[in-house]
Amino acid sequence: MPYSYLSMASKPGILTDWPWKPLGSFKYILLVPLITEHIYSFMEKDEDIDVSKLVLFPFMLWRMLHNQLWISLSRYLTAKGTNKIVDKGIEFDQVDRERDWDDQIMFNAILFYWGNKYVPGGSHLPFWRLDGVIITMLLHAGPVEFLYYWLHRALHHHYLYSRYHSHHHSSIVTEPITSVIHPFAEHIAYFLLFAIPILTTVLTGTVSIVALAAYITYLDFMNNMGHCNFELIPSWLFTLIPPLKYIIYTPSFHSLHHVQFRTNYSLFMPFYDYIYGTMDKSSDTLYEKSLRRKEESPHVVHLTHLTTPESIYHLRLGFASFASKPYTPSTWHMWLLWPVTLCSMMLTWIYCFTFVVESNRFHNIRLQTWTIPKYNIQTWLVGDGLSEVEQKKASKGTLFIPFSQFPPKKLRTDCFYHTTPAMQTPLAFENVDSCENWLPRRVMSVWRIAGLVHALEGWEEHECGYTTSNIEKVWEATVKHGFQPLRVPTHLKS
Ligand SMILES: [Zn+2]
Ligand SMILES: [Zn+2]
Repeated sequence: MPYSYLSMASKPGILTDWPWKPLGSFKYILLVPLITEHIYSFMEKDEDIDVSKLVLFPFMLWRMLHNQLWISLSRYLTAKGTNKIVDKGIEFDQVDRERDWDDQIMFNAILFYWGNKYVPGGSHLPFWRLDGVIITMLLHAGPVEFLYYWLHRALHHHYLYSRYHSHHHSSIVTEPITSVIHPFAEHIAYFLLFAIPILTTVLTGTVSIVALAAYITYLDFMNNMGHCNFELIPSWLFTLIPPLKYIIYTPSFHSLHHVQFRTNYSLFMPFYDYIYGTMDKSSDTLYEKSLRRKEESPHVVHLTHLTTPESIYHLRLGFASFASKPYTPSTWHMWLLWPVTLCSMMLTWIYCFTFVVESNRFHNIRLQTWTIPKYNIQTWLVGDGLSEVEQKKASKGTLFIPFSQFPPKKLRTDCFYHTTPAMQTPLAFENVDSCENWLPRRVMSVWRIAGLVHALEGWEEHECGYTTSNIEKVWEATVKHGFQPLRVPTHLKS
């Protein structure tokens, strides 16, 4: 496997992995019964349609979309720096560890599907019932929050911490989706907790579709919010309703739990931390400090643009895991997304402003990458245009070194292909969690490095479009700052 799956707690306990882990990407076949029944219910001429069964699949998709929106928003705002809480960066190991965030949604979808089938009162739910909503709220604020608090404290005991909970705490700087990154055993425990209000309302016949959907969405919302790494609860809300402070936590509140480990254990309602004296003293100051934080001004800006229409998915604001691997255009699942691709093209066409996609730090220099929402759809011109026929003319074992912006299409297995001009970045270059287009991990295009080296050296010359004033000087400075030349490929692809 080219990307090691950085895993698990220091001493993984039993039921650490998801049962479908061996299936890899084929895990989605487990959803086939659910989807089949969903389609079948549509075709049924039966009068007695179970709407609660019909909404299971769309609801699962909604949860995935909801989480994805949080990921994108958080990545965008933390790159800008507005209201950011923790200033450290995120690296590839975290993206790898958190890539299967939809496992938890799949797990719930399967359990709901079974619940709908086998639990008495679990099917043909009414659309709305007020009593069920009130019961859900009370049972959440009472037993769920209380039991979670103590379970969470138990999980911080070294026995359980080293076997389970340390997996979640591997992320000091959190992304919204860090919220669902737990060993399987912990997910079972959390599901049992959230089943308290759900099963109570189902068994008492007070449950409704709205109550259930709203409760799960509330859990997702609070979970994502608590891990989003930017403060968003306005202070006027707490001034207007002072007791709210005990009822809803803030992103900075839970962020402190990830930095300090021994404080702020509450699920979403901080009052248990107040009662048991585990409230972090700096909660309020961190909250106010984060709210005051303005957008960051970078020292260097790297301007980039979209390449192919599908390259929109490779932006780190989109699919984190996809962006963390070198971009390969037009894979089959990209074809499935063409309606979305078309919409995104329309959107970028209407929205014609550049936007921040990435923010990195190199010693005390802040570098931002901004994307211009314009495409450069090319037929893979290489240098001054290397045609397929020309490529075929080259003798066996030829090394193709592209010097333009696009890599050549790899047509021959008996030749070597170098990447577009790029270098390996030193470790001091922080917050790298995505690949720059087709380049491997932690490899940066020379255009981007050039801007950075200019800033580091304080050079004022404008070299764009001109020949570099002193190649020797630029090269020495680049190597001095720790950038390493890439190795020329020496093995033929079999
Ligand atoms: Zn914890
Ligand atoms: Zn957490």
